[in-house]
Amino acid sequence: MRTSHKKKTVSRAAFKSKAAGMQTVKQDARLLDAEKFLLPTYKRPPVVMTHGRGAYVFDATGKRYLDFLGGIAVNALGHAHPRVVKVIRREAARAIHLSNLYHNARQGPLARKLAAWSGLDRVFFTNSGTEAIDGAMKLARLVARKPEEAPGTAAKQHRFLALENSFHGRTFGAISVTSTEKYRLPFAPVVPGAEFVRFNDVADLESKFDGTICAILLETIQGEGGIHPVSEVFWNRARALATQHGALLIADEIQCGLGRTGRYFAYQKFSSKPDIALIAKPLAAGLPLGAILTSEAVASRVSPGMHGTTFGGGPLACATALEFLETVESEKLLENIRARGAELREGLAKLAAKFDFIREIRGEGLMVGVELSVEGAPFVAEAMQRGLLINCTHDFTLRLLPTFIINRAQVREFLRLFELILATTPQQASASDSGKTAESARVAHAAAR
Ligand SMILES: *Cc1c(COP(=O)(O)O)cnc(C)c1O
Repeated sequence: MRTSHKKKTVSRAAFKSKAAGMQTVKQDARLLDAEKFLLPTYKRPPVVMTHGRGAYVFDATGKRYLDFLGGIAVNALGHAHPRVVKVIRREAARAIHLSNLYHNARQGPLARKLAAWSGLDRVFFTNSGTEAIDGAMKLARLVARKPEEAPGTAAKQHRFLALENSFHGRTFGAISVTSTEKYRLPFAPVVPGAEFVRFNDVADLESKFDGTICAILLETIQGEGGIHPVSEVFWNRARALATQHGALLIADEIQCGLGRTGRYFAYQKFSSKPDIALIAKPLAAGLPLGAILTSEAVASRVSPGMHGTTFGGGPLACATALEFLETVESEKLLENIRARGAELREGLAKLAAKFDFIREIRGEGLMVGVELSVEGAPFVAEAMQRGLLINCTHDFTLRLLPTFIINRAQVREFLRLFELILATTPQQASASDSGKTAESARVAHAAAR
């Protein structure tokens, strides 16, 4: 392992691992157990991560990594943030779980703050993003059902529109509105009635939106799809058509929401609001928590017993989420996100001028995609060797999701490392000769038309 290029990273353990090479790591019994006993749902490098501090993560050999993935947009306050650690200690000693049959002291105040951030009125807490998506789809079906339609039958207005290149999660509801076929087709039949609209294509949206649609779901900025923002004209048209047909506009802000763009919600750059906004990833600083945020009009159709959850909105997770939101406010992190994001994109633009295989830099705030004309995976592997965590989405887009507390020096450290990685990674198949067409490249093309 190459750790010696940075003096600071050479701890005694890292030196040992460097001397012994990757073999040592491979024989880690915890890793062998994982490979033998887990379902093979993830292809992972042979490294066991053990802990983190601030913007850095450490593996079992003591090697340090600059974390520009943030646990896939979850660790917005980095690792072991003192305020997060303190609140978890305090709350764990009070109550981890009390059940949703009673009020707890944290749900109400957290819901109040989320309403203030989002401009929406009411909240339902879930344990994950995909549960928030499924819950929102149920709400859309509920709201569109007419009183004269018999319960248990398909209402006339029961279909969903989603976008090409979308990702909404892994449960049945979520995969039925997720366009990537490998996530959906092996599990068919999925929830019936979903149809995909070409990304940012207003004409296609208009041709597919009719009185059978109960909701249009969209990521305000597509995350897994390669960091593609929905255009203002598309958003406005989706809002107008939803209102006209009595359907819901559902904004999936699970990745792009809660500050990531430098605004509380990504949709706040538009002049209108969605009927439902969904959040999860960074909400409870790494504890599992998601939420459905919605209007009074939608909430008025819900009655006790229709929907629920055992774990969702527990006091420990909610107290931690409240601490996260208060930290974003009191430490003025939106300003930091905007300033560090601007420095990051400026540095990346310089690199794009230097390396001709960088096709485009996209994103806002601290949600950035670097689209390459060659496969991204070798760059991710090289980055890991050099002590940097990033990932690659849709084969050709390197994705950066650093923590909200990243500082100027860490942005510079990233740019220095990233340049080295771009310069030394052996390049493999290009987008054109690998035979694969990046769906994300097609999306960019569609968006340009
Ligand atoms: C991660 C993600 C989801 C799914 O969230 P889980 O917590 O993994 O279920 C849904 N939508 C978007 C945009 C996401 O990034």
